[in-house]
Amino acid sequence: MKILVPVKRVVDFNVKVRVKSDHTGVELSNVKMSMNPFCEIAVEEAVRLKEKGVAKEIIVVSIGPAQCQETIRTGLAMGGDRGILVQTDAAVEPLGVAKILLALVKKETPDLVILGKQSIDGDNNQTGQMLSALLGWGQATFASKIEKTDTGLNVTREVDGGLETLALKLPCVVTTDLRLNEPRYASLPNIMKAKQKPLATMKPEELSVDISPRTVTLKVTEPATRKSGIKVKDVAELVGKLKNEAKVI
Ligand code: AMP
Repeated sequence: MKILVPVKRVVDFNVKVRVKSDHTGVELSNVKMSMNPFCEIAVEEAVRLKEKGVAKEIIVVSIGPAQCQETIRTGLAMGGDRGILVQTDAAVEPLGVAKILLALVKKETPDLVILGKQSIDGDNNQTGQMLSALLGWGQATFASKIEKTDTGLNVTREVDGGLETLALKLPCVVTTDLRLNEPRYASLPNIMKAKQKPLATMKPEELSVDISPRTVTLKVTEPATRKSGIKVKDVAELVGKLKNEAKVI
């Protein structure tokens, strides 16, 4: 089995995100960037499938600026075999990402594309679903367990009130949920080895993909700051405030 794992470079989840003063987006200069956490889970699952002898090759793909090479190298240090960077400085929307991945799937013919369920910057939760529609492949979103079967994969998903298990034929698209696994830390020797692994770079134009945006961000704002609380001296004052000031009773 050949697995394609798309990984996105996003603001590190530990960083407190700051909105730019002109409200056009969030501050990215001098901010620590890392692999999207759900993509780390996708790489880890692909590596586990390889360790079980189910997968033969893992290709780690990223779409974005030149610095995405670092994100791909992290995936290679975790156990990916080779990387592909589709380099662009433009902000690519999920549909554009899905179209680029479609072109790469046609070139690479993987049996499985395993993506994060969501990127923590845009909170889109769209790319995997769009890719599966463009490919006409089966999909299982929000996977919390993946098992190889004789005919394909059984994927367990967390749904309201329980678990749902789907049987999928290969090739298919799977997106990862938080509880699928705990990604490994890349060891220093593996980080060194990853530097030697092949990493191809190409431009979206070479794949004949139109990534022009379909939406415009009008404004980005910080959430409203919460007012500090006050102490009341008795129940009567509390009831008075709830009735006359908060108007909730
Ligand atoms: P989203 O639909 O933006 O929430 O992203 C869901 C998943 O799609 C991510 O976890 C990645 O696996 C993949 N993805 C989204 N954007 C990119 C990108 N620029 N490069 C590589 N993979 C991406």
